[in-house]
Amino acid sequence: MKKQYPKGRYLVSGGAGFIGSHLCERLIENECEVIAVDNFITGRPENVKQLLGNSRFSLIEQDIIHSLKISGNLTGIFHMASPASPVDYAKLPIETLHVGAIGSDNILKLALEKKCPILVASTSEVYGDPLQHPQEESYWGNVNPIGPRGCYDESKRYMEALTMAYHRVYGLPTRIVRIFNTYGPRMRVDDGRVVPNFCMQALAHEPVTVYGDGSQTRSFCYVADLVEGLMRALHSDYTRPINLGNPIEMTISQFAQKIINLCHSRSTLEYRPLPQDDPKTRRPDISLAKKVLDWQPQVDLESGLQRTVEFFKEKSQRPVS
Ligand code: UDP
Repeated sequence: MKKQYPKGRYLVSGGAGFIGSHLCERLIENECEVIAVDNFITGRPENVKQLLGNSRFSLIEQDIIHSLKISGNLTGIFHMASPASPVDYAKLPIETLHVGAIGSDNILKLALEKKCPILVASTSEVYGDPLQHPQEESYWGNVNPIGPRGCYDESKRYMEALTMAYHRVYGLPTRIVRIFNTYGPRMRVDDGRVVPNFCMQALAHEPVTVYGDGSQTRSFCYVADLVEGLMRALHSDYTRPINLGNPIEMTISQFAQKIINLCHSRSTLEYRPLPQDDPKTRRPDISLAKKVLDWQPQVDLESGLQRTVEFFKEKSQRPVS
């Protein structure tokens, strides 16, 4: 039995994105009414097509850098909108900065107008290429503001500052979660991230492209676990940032091998140059989430990746031999 949360009417910015669409689905399962807002620059209507026939779900195509007019009450807001993969935000740096700054301001104003709690989706990227390992929420980070990741990192850091300002000035009930690497079905095949790249390459028996020497580390959280963390965070009363992610860490080479094995693939590893400012390590300290949300990931990497590989197998329409 899934945990039940207060029913009501929720707005999800970025509701047609990878995490946003899973969140909308979870809210609908919980018998809530959901208004998803998306401009589809990286999200896709296809992600929520299964919800479109539901009378409790509506989808608004809008860029939130323009102010939002929503009639009626809202019970809560999840602000998920932003390009989020390094390849996407490198292509869309101005949009990324604008959604984090102007879009966040509009959505915080909406929460103020509706007098409802708002959760903003921040990121482990606020820690940059971290000098503390694992990363605790008290760490201020090591970010290059003018590097290729600066547009995302700084927009999210600004969003956090803005969110705290609304909280301090107006007493707005705000929640900030810092999302670490998350994976699962509905990641975009071409978003350039490691999970879609490795899965699609392994399924096609093509070389798996490892950037750098593959010794950099990441920790991968299955999307259903992450969504559960988001639900708990919104319904908590904790206003400071909380890390959400899976603390099991591995090198990218190990991860590549794991995916090759899961796909029963003949792929080999192909080493490519490491992108500038690619963090060398990343692993969340989730003690705070355990303490204040009673949350920790439940889905182990094998089962999560299995479901994800199934999704990409359908996308590739090339059955594994
Ligand atoms: N990566 C890789 N091969 C790829 C895509 C990514 O080796 O085809 C590496 C990337 O350099 C980084 C890690 O995998 O070290 C995770 O990259 P991703 O783009 O998924 O997200 P990030 O954690 O960097 O935001």
